[in-house]
Amino acid sequence: MIRQFELVERVKAYDPSADEEALNRAYVFAMKVHGTQTRLSGDPYFSHPLEVAGILTDYKVDMASIITALLHDTVEDTETTLKDIKKSFGKDVSRLVDGVTKLTRIEFQSDQAKQAENFRKFVLAMSEDIRVLLVKLADRLHNMRTLHYIKDPGKRRRIALETMDIYAPLAERIGMQGMKNELEDLAFGELNPDARKSILKRLDFLREKGGDLIPRIITELEKTLADKGINAVIEGREKTPYSVWDKMQDQDLGFEQLSDIMAFRVIVDTIEDCYLTLGIAHGAYPVVPGRFKDYLSTPKPNGYRSLHTGVFGPERQRIELQIRTAEMHDIAEHGVAAHWNYKEGEGGGKNAGAAPQYRWLRELLDIIEHAAEPEEFLEHTKLEMFKDQVFCFTPRGDLITLPKGATPVDFAYAVHSEVGDRCVGTKINGRMMPLRSELRNGDQVDIITSEAQTPSPTWESFVVTGKARSRIRRYIRSQESDEYTKLGTAILERAFEDEGYKFTNKAIRNVLKVFKQTKVKDLFAKVGAGVLTGREVVEAVFPGIRKKKDDGKIVPLAHARDKQAKARSGKGGKEDGVSIKGLIPGMALHLANCCHPLPGDRIVGIVTTGKGVTIHTIDCDTLEDFVDAPERWLDVSWDVGNDDQEIHVGRIHLAVLNVPGSLGDLSTVIARNDGNISNLKITERSTQFFNMLIDIEVRDVKHLTDIIAALRADPAINSVERARG
Ligand code: MN
Repeated sequence: MIRQFELVERVKAYDPSADEEALNRAYVFAMKVHGTQTRLSGDPYFSHPLEVAGILTDYKVDMASIITALLHDTVEDTETTLKDIKKSFGKDVSRLVDGVTKLTRIEFQSDQAKQAENFRKFVLAMSEDIRVLLVKLADRLHNMRTLHYIKDPGKRRRIALETMDIYAPLAERIGMQGMKNELEDLAFGELNPDARKSILKRLDFLREKGGDLIPRIITELEKTLADKGINAVIEGREKTPYSVWDKMQDQDLGFEQLSDIMAFRVIVDTIEDCYLTLGIAHGAYPVVPGRFKDYLSTPKPNGYRSLHTGVFGPERQRIELQIRTAEMHDIAEHGVAAHWNYKEGEGGGKNAGAAPQYRWLRELLDIIEHAAEPEEFLEHTKLEMFKDQVFCFTPRGDLITLPKGATPVDFAYAVHSEVGDRCVGTKINGRMMPLRSELRNGDQVDIITSEAQTPSPTWESFVVTGKARSRIRRYIRSQESDEYTKLGTAILERAFEDEGYKFTNKAIRNVLKVFKQTKVKDLFAKVGAGVLTGREVVEAVFPGIRKKKDDGKIVPLAHARDKQAKARSGKGGKEDGVSIKGLIPGMALHLANCCHPLPGDRIVGIVTTGKGVTIHTIDCDTLEDFVDAPERWLDVSWDVGNDDQEIHVGRIHLAVLNVPGSLGDLSTVIARNDGNISNLKITERSTQFFNMLIDIEVRDVKHLTDIIAALRADPAINSVERARG
């Protein structure tokens, strides 16, 4: 536990004008009101606010924040009121304590709607003054350090999850990298202790193998730089187990492939020295490609500035170098706390949102004010603001912020919808890369566009932003309707032709009303999508043919039932001129609707009393229902030799790629092989595939098999099977 004089000394070290008397008063006040309260660790309760204040001195925060840290639990856990605090420590401190108390009272584990509402309150409270968040983060850090004293595993887990999901991202957002790393690693230890242990073991192994690698590398790096006249302070460290784990998950890499288990900070005097150091490092050691980042000329939005590069260092180990000046280093370590302007009147306090580094906070408030539902707000904020983000740049240096996992296509749509629609390729940091590449922080993204390009449905499977997804979907919808229109036109032309009529738009226009459509194109699309059959449209145009149909050859699926009824009542052993051997004369016959037997198929008849015989293919699934009734099975076969030129309906299952033109291909292949689509139904539609059932008019099973073979040969068609039951 830090002593009173130590705390004062620490503050005085970075702020000589600090009000020592006020600090001492806060110290005594907190100690007195917490009295004999104890922590779960057995320590006096007062040790906690004291440690929190101690953590904050590392970040060199102002006096009011330190005093707030000392008092932060007094209102929540003791008889003390805000009035008492205001009287003893002034308005500023009492407002800060109030803010921290509010944050403390908010719990995140409740149901979704409540969680959203609580998060809203949380943001509102911290946006009053960013120092509230600084104190709260230090409070959480100390609680995480002492988490193991909590007995209840459920409670430990809840706190760890909250830390991972909310506090660590907030710490990162305000640039407190060290705070973020420690919070994450502590939470990781609670949430996934086995993974953390195995990574520690692996790190130990590497450390043993390499001996005192870090000091040796530092010594050699210092010598290399000193030889060239650069004065540098070098710090080396291993990444935390969590950040190693995160990288492994994120990049799907094995341990050995990670280049930056060791990172070295090279702190030099001037910006010029930064670039000189980079040149020396690149001259002295082989460079790991693709690792160079210049956050000097384009700082991260949280203010971070540094040069990053990867080299095969002095010991042939892959190491990461972060090169920066002392001032930049301070900001990198302390983030928002390094800027003194978080204080009221200097861009902080009530106007916290005005300073550029708080733009995210202002945006957050904006979303809060405009979100219709708490859930909507949560989605915006938690998903888009607090999920990790990547910050990328246009070639002109404009910053584009995207959610993690975003691709160049997301980037293109974020720049402008037109750019997204027309993008054909991308250069990331000057190199041509696939459009599905995941963008990384600091990437410069150059989108190559072409007037001829249109959005590809395959993009939908990898974009992550709502804007990109909705634009692509909108385009696919319009494309689909084009495809259906083409297909529908082809089906109708054929249906008219089969009846001996010429197909005209005029004829269609006359029957639009019958089908409750307003445009010819819409009716075509309905036919193409299988909602209407070609036959139905032909019948509407020429009502006279309905009678004729009963003797006709074309049997659209929708009418198969009428036809069977007809068959049942009449000529035994024959349906539509189909001859089948093995039937009792006079028996009604129908072809099963489940398997659509075709001449040439091996078939079986199933007798149903009073209804006649139903013909199934021998491999039809429906036959399973009759295994216990062998007396109903009838051995039948097609009456070959009968010059059968009849038309039969075969049914297939088909999965076709969901890309423009594929439905057109499909109908072309079938038509080229003399088949005629009589019905088409899309059973499932995903981003990758259409699954559909298609009825094709064919002569016999060989004809259908030929069509299936031709379909299988088409690259746009993924799979084709005959429908079986
Ligand atoms: Mn506390």
